[in-house]
Amino acid sequence: MDKEEQRPQTSPHVLIFPLPAQGHVNSMLKLAELLALAGLKLTFLNSDFVHEQLLRHTDVVSRFVKYAGFEFRTIPDGLPDEHPRAGHGFMEIFETLESITKPIFNEMLVNMKPRVDCLLADGVLGIAVDVAQELGIPIIQFRTISACSTWAYFAVLDMIQAGELPIKGKEDMDRLITSVPGMETFLRCRDLPGFCRVMDSTLQRISEDTRKNFKGHGLLLNTFEDLEGDILSHMRTKSPNIYTVGPLHLHLRTRLCESDQTLFEQSPNSFYKVDRSCLSWLDKQPKGSVLYVSFGSLTVLSSEQVFEFWFGLINSGKRFLWVLRPGIMPEKGDEGNNIPVELIKGTKERGCLVSWAPQEEVLGHGAIGGFLTHSGWNSTLESVVEGVPMICWPYFADQQINSRFVSQVWGLGLDMKDLCDRHIVEKMVNDLMVERRDEFLKSTTKMAKLARECVNVGGSSYCNLDRLVEDIRSMNS
Ligand code: UDP
Repeated sequence: MDKEEQRPQTSPHVLIFPLPAQGHVNSMLKLAELLALAGLKLTFLNSDFVHEQLLRHTDVVSRFVKYAGFEFRTIPDGLPDEHPRAGHGFMEIFETLESITKPIFNEMLVNMKPRVDCLLADGVLGIAVDVAQELGIPIIQFRTISACSTWAYFAVLDMIQAGELPIKGKEDMDRLITSVPGMETFLRCRDLPGFCRVMDSTLQRISEDTRKNFKGHGLLLNTFEDLEGDILSHMRTKSPNIYTVGPLHLHLRTRLCESDQTLFEQSPNSFYKVDRSCLSWLDKQPKGSVLYVSFGSLTVLSSEQVFEFWFGLINSGKRFLWVLRPGIMPEKGDEGNNIPVELIKGTKERGCLVSWAPQEEVLGHGAIGGFLTHSGWNSTLESVVEGVPMICWPYFADQQINSRFVSQVWGLGLDMKDLCDRHIVEKMVNDLMVERRDEFLKSTTKMAKLARECVNVGGSSYCNLDRLVEDIRSMNS
């Protein structure tokens, strides 16, 4: 059958627009595939830079070719090609998106054929909300972070009004924040993102953009009711139409299985070349013996921090698989293999270093017994799904809040917060992998089961995705 024939004639045209960053693009591609499976006509808008990275390292185009009406389009992000697009400097992208990308996006939407019936935009793209409003296009926003972080961001203005922000310095870090409904008893200043420490335009923009998330046709979240139900009930007092459809990677796996389709090596959607050799290394390790260490796609580390982690790992006596991606230590140069030689030599006995891992598969491997993570939301969900306990070392943004929930609310691991010290690393690794292992495994196994249930037929995320598809369909009737 011809591809166009497969798609119902009435299918509305949805434009999906992620922030050009690994975690955002990854989860929005998964959402796109779920919507494509449901037969919607989709255009996925990538930045030129991101699209080039995806073409270089993934099979993403061939993966989507089978879906009728699916198309990739690209747009400049406004940053110069040589910009590292990592670390705190990544935030500069918001300025260029506003000044350079926004007018191009506006023109693109005006001229797009067929006309866009629904814009499904990343909730951090204030520019998408502005353009949708100007052109009268219905918009559903997708926050790719946790509900708890979205809710804390929403409350930033309340925290300012209550005199709880900005944070006043190092000595202020243990103060309890009381103006975020649902978090009054455990949220401390140190659990808030770094941008809460200075009253500047970033803080202003983030709080305003988050307020806008609650004003569209609906708010989509990559989470599930059994994980974040309490916070979601607070959020629904401000925005009743919240679709929780996560964990998206598991949801996609489930729906592809249902429709008898294969998953392309767990669709890593990576901006880096995936090194699969670590899977055969893992095959040789005993069950539950390896700590997986990865800090995601944006974190940068000083070599001092790298060595503190390394000594901590070595001294713990445990096996480890460590991702040190190109550019993670800017002082050692952006390109190629910047791993210090001492570290490579010293790791041989019971460690494995790679520059980018097939993370979903790694976390699902039986040899993995723990995850030292930066608490990015995708990484957190991937760990939850596989029932792997976590040690959290949050770097920025939502990660500080996620790590507090992992340790204090969900009991899925430990929170190292802003400490980076070899003795603490060693102690935490031992606590996670030995001393408190059974306690953590009990909670992680239970949560993993709930995650599976919510994406199966009749589960909350399964039903919410069907409801989302129906609501989008009704937009062009
Ligand atoms: N990831 C991967 N291989 C790696 C490290 C990370 O495939 O070696 C993927 C990981 O599975 C996750 C994403 O990169 O889906 C990182 O997203 P996250 O939200 O955790 O963090 P961010 O990179 O946005 O800080």
